[in-house]
Amino acid sequence: MVKIALQFKANLENVTELQADGEDFRWYLKFRCTNCGEESDKWIYLSQDETVPMKGSRGKANLVTKCKMCSRDCSIDILPETITKYTIEDSNTFKSIVAFDCRGVSIIDFSPRNGFKCHGVDSNTMFEDVNLEEREWVDYDDRQNQPVGIYEVEHKFINIK
Ligand SMILES: [Zn+2]
Repeated sequence: MVKIALQFKANLENVTELQADGEDFRWYLKFRCTNCGEESDKWIYLSQDETVPMKGSRGKANLVTKCKMCSRDCSIDILPETITKYTIEDSNTFKSIVAFDCRGVSIIDFSPRNGFKCHGVDSNTMFEDVNLEEREWVDYDDRQNQPVGIYEVEHKFINIK
């Protein structure tokens, strides 16, 4: 059992408290089998509001899958207490925004998509369903009369205890 944190980095312009919005937020990931080293070539998502039973156990996990090379079962859980807001003060530094409990796999890639939210740094204007698929996002804060944006989105993974 390995805990892996997703570290996020971006340049926030006039918005803050960027976060994954709600339990139905979909984390799109790619995995590597820790048994045989096979790497998945397709994106698989998991979300907090979906759980499936694990084979041969009474437990459940957010994602249960099987390595297509060695057929080893593996499962991944989102650790909800690790979900963290990324603020404008965090800009241009890596910060863990979520961690996953991984059994039988490690995580090799992340695809940010829609479902993020944030708000204007001075106005509390809410921006919902922010899409970071292009690794940047721009909008306009009508209350504050200023452009807002998220730029230079990067990520990496670290093992945590
Ligand atoms: Zn395998």
